[in-house]
Amino acid sequence: MQLSIPVPFDGGCPCGAVRFRGEAVPVAMYNCHCPGCQKLSGAPFAPLVVLPLARVRMTGDLKRPAQAVRDDKHGERFCCARCGFPVLARSDAQAEVCMLNVMSVDDPSWFHPVADIWTAYAQPWVRLDRHIPKVHKSPPVLGGEVV
Ligand SMILES: [Zn+2]
Ligand SMILES: [Zn+2]
Repeated sequence: MQLSIPVPFDGGCPCGAVRFRGEAVPVAMYNCHCPGCQKLSGAPFAPLVVLPLARVRMTGDLKRPAQAVRDDKHGERFCCARCGFPVLARSDAQAEVCMLNVMSVDDPSWFHPVADIWTAYAQPWVRLDRHIPKVHKSPPVLGGEVV
């Protein structure tokens, strides 16, 4: 598949108070099935782009969520202080990267997941793309080992 990724790319939360610019090609793109992504996206999995934290520019007020989601597999979450949208997540194990839900990017059409991750938590009624690898837990990019 040959899709060109426009760099930089812009995005933001639904209310527009937080905006960001991704200034690098994503390190990886995943469909994440972890409980945190399920609860916070309101969907069976979240399409995530992984970027070097230093290459994401944010404007607007961010806050930590009032309460953590049980079994969230990402270390820290940062939400829009106004609408509460979970804009950014950080990995516990890899401090230099962060994750953005690609649906918050203004034009997410270039997204192409390279793997399903945290499939240990995948809902049984979700039809997974059999053409991409399944990572039971955390992928190496996020500090895990492929299981
Ligand atoms: Zn996740
Ligand atoms: Zn907002």
